[in-house]
Amino acid sequence: MSELEVSGEFGSPGWWSRVWRDPDPAMLDAGSTGERVIAWVRIVATLLLLAVPVGSLIAHPELSENWIGVTVTLIALLLAIVVFFAVRRDQRPRWLGAACTIFDVTIISAALLSYVLTEQPLVATNSRVAFECYFLAMAATCLRYDARLCILAGGLAIAEYLGLVLLAVNMYDLDSLTGNIHRYGAFDWGSVLSRVVVLGIAAFFSTVIVMRAKDLRRLSSLDRMTGLFNRGHFDERLGAELNRAQRLQQPLSVVMLDVDRFKEFNDRFGHSAGDVGLRTIADRFRQMTRRSDVVARYGGEEFVFLLPDTSADTAFDKLEQIRASVEGLKITLPKGQGEASLTVSAGIATFPADGTNAEELIDEADARLFRAKAGGRNRVAGRLTLGTTRPPQPSGLEMTG
Ligand code: GH3
Ligand code: MG
Ligand code: MG
Repeated sequence: MSELEVSGEFGSPGWWSRVWRDPDPAMLDAGSTGERVIAWVRIVATLLLLAVPVGSLIAHPELSENWIGVTVTLIALLLAIVVFFAVRRDQRPRWLGAACTIFDVTIISAALLSYVLTEQPLVATNSRVAFECYFLAMAATCLRYDARLCILAGGLAIAEYLGLVLLAVNMYDLDSLTGNIHRYGAFDWGSVLSRVVVLGIAAFFSTVIVMRAKDLRRLSSLDRMTGLFNRGHFDERLGAELNRAQRLQQPLSVVMLDVDRFKEFNDRFGHSAGDVGLRTIADRFRQMTRRSDVVARYGGEEFVFLLPDTSADTAFDKLEQIRASVEGLKITLPKGQGEASLTVSAGIATFPADGTNAEELIDEADARLFRAKAGGRNRVAGRLTLGTTRPPQPSGLEMTG
């Protein structure tokens, strides 16, 4: 199954296996933008929440729980500021999303724990405001566009809340407290269970929302005929990968590739055979590139590759292999027309030597593709190299069966 296909009906084993898969680079980009938004909201939310314990402290400075409330919220604010700067760094560790998810859920549990430790266990078990914050943490997790983190947030919220309830039950005689009139109501295992069920449902819904976002994102970036990425997605990724290459001071190679004498192929075997040819070549491109490479249909019988962290020499060798592999590829034609083959020509431009922006790199790769065509087709043109492993072909198509 192609990694680009949207696979697995909702709830099927295929769907669940996609839940556990690493998000693709486009979703990672969306996720890191989301993480920055969450970091802002976290600071604003803790600042707003700080007003409550500060107000109580001013009114009743003699009560220890008011000091604890202010201290816990101040620690949360401090940590929120640390996280804010951590997520703005260029090189974010892979575990940052999971760490932030754990932080958001655990800070809510820490607030609830402070009530258990200050002899207000019913506030911890029956709280109406702090408990609802678990749902805010889960909603925020959707912005990370990683379904695994939605499950982590839900699982952790359930485990931590149940842990708190068990702690409260062990430390206090909640039934005797329940006898008193308490604005948080009586302790009751039935409502604890309902809260756990609702947390589970919220976690499931956030997972479904993220999976749907992934599906739509994927569909909107695909070329339907070949299953490769489309031009819009390529343009978007080119900008992002150029920024990354600049930041990390890594090379980035851009390849323009065109099928040779494809019009003749169409004229000879028909357009549906041409479509089969394009799909067969596209499959080969996919097989021969890395998951981090972006392979897209630029339009018609033209393709573009984006090869991150790939020098001009490495890109040339890779394209030479792809060119040779396509040349040897047997295309099974429809309507019993037998087999045929196609060849491709490619031009490569590499950041930063051949250009420092998208336009310069595309133009240079295009100019070299033109050179490869002028040099006889079925060849790859790089910076200093116009490669060929065989004499120029009079035509890019051969009939073999
Ligand atoms: P060159 O080697 O110079 O690239 O020659 P060429 O024949 O490949 O180039 P030209 O631009 O003259 O023709 C491109 C052909 O590709 C014409 C067009 O009908 C065909 N084509 C473009 N998109 C599709 C497609 O989706 N399916 C099919 N079957 N043909 C397509
Ligand atoms: Mg062509
Ligand atoms: Mg063309």
